[in-house]
Amino acid sequence: MEKTNGEKLREKLFDVKHSGFENISDEKKERIFDFCNEYISFLNSCKTERECALFSEKLLKDNGFENIENVKSLKPGDKVYYINRKKAVYAAVIGNAMLEEGLNLIGAHIDSPRLDLKPNPLYETDGLALLKTHYYGGIKKYQWTAIPLVIKGVIAKSNGEVVNVNIGEGMEDPIFTITDLLPHLAAKQEKKSLGDGIAGEDLNILVGSMPYNDEKVSEKVKLNILNILNNKYGITEKDFISAELEVVPAFPARSLGFDGSMVAAYGQDDRSCAYATLRALISLDNPCRTSIALLADKEEIGSVGNTGMYSANFEVFIANILDKAGQNGHNVLEKTLCNSKMLSSDVTSAADPTYADVDDKYNAAYLGHGIALCKYTGSRGKGGASDANAEFVAKVRHILDKNNLTYQMADMGKVDEGGGGTIAYILANKGIDVIDCGVPVLSMHAPYEVTSKFDIYNAYEVYKAFYQD
Ligand code: MN
Ligand code: MN
Repeated sequence: MEKTNGEKLREKLFDVKHSGFENISDEKKERIFDFCNEYISFLNSCKTERECALFSEKLLKDNGFENIENVKSLKPGDKVYYINRKKAVYAAVIGNAMLEEGLNLIGAHIDSPRLDLKPNPLYETDGLALLKTHYYGGIKKYQWTAIPLVIKGVIAKSNGEVVNVNIGEGMEDPIFTITDLLPHLAAKQEKKSLGDGIAGEDLNILVGSMPYNDEKVSEKVKLNILNILNNKYGITEKDFISAELEVVPAFPARSLGFDGSMVAAYGQDDRSCAYATLRALISLDNPCRTSIALLADKEEIGSVGNTGMYSANFEVFIANILDKAGQNGHNVLEKTLCNSKMLSSDVTSAADPTYADVDDKYNAAYLGHGIALCKYTGSRGKGGASDANAEFVAKVRHILDKNNLTYQMADMGKVDEGGGGTIAYILANKGIDVIDCGVPVLSMHAPYEVTSKFDIYNAYEVYKAFYQD
């Protein structure tokens, strides 16, 4: 049937939104699902920033990247990386163009909301041993009770020895949990607001109930736990002071839905973008401009600290590249940054039909509709947003259109509903053109977050195209 004039005009003028899975070939669908199987196994081995840094270093090495500290000089095609204090990763593929003409950067973060053990965590009360925690990042506290938890991290002893801790992932391992009140006795608790129902000080991890067999000692259950830890790790109670022990969900990452079209997992903010960024970087051979991947720590608590995006280690890495490429000089670092362009690869909120009233449906990101560009983040009148320039947004659109890539432009939540931020503004402050560009997520910051497999693979394709421009 011949199309009517109205139909033809609509096709020409409307920006019609649809699922990326619509009219997709079987071959493409298979490629997406294969990529996401690898993504799922990455998520299962990377639940902390340290695990992500370790995984990244191995992947980079396996793909011809060298530690920049061991490299004397750099030429186009060379691949280098730097690991900042085992928690943040910077990696680069040197391009053919002069560095001063600008870099193509993509920056994600590898820390996720979680519970950290307090410095004096272990106590015994009423015959139970528990660990005190302090939550890290924005969590809804009630979501962390009555779920299986694992403990991961390091204990650094004063003699310089660092002990790795990873309990709960193996099927033989014990797991841990935070108890919640039974509904029968929760009449008072249930009258509290959702935010106040579980307090920060209620997030205590249950770790033991068996007393040490000696009538004469007090705190027998605590003693028994310390004895177990001493036998296993050679530590005493004081060693908790210099430990970084993180409590994260035990759930493995899984395919979600009858159609298997989604991924459910802990830590997809922002490891979905981090993984896609890494995979895009290692796929490059001879990019025109030098391509850089940044996997930052501490984004969830404001990008502060010497492993966060504010850290001077980032500029030192770029200066190191300039030096080793023989291209450094007066103001070259600053000029290089001012001529650079960047995708801030961080996730955004996907529209949730059950909570539709928080979104402006015309400007929300939809699961499965491809990567979401956000011109600005921030809250209440764009507060804290770096707000990408229209000309730069047009440039990014051009790259994506040229490569036939699906994408959507979104705004997180209704105006004045709330908001959020990423590392974008930190790099924009250095003179770099930056736009947020990440995977839409349902249940963001929950112990189990949901993404679309289409969007994960799409992110990889988009990042690759950006690097190659
Ligand atoms: Mn994030
Ligand atoms: Mn976040």
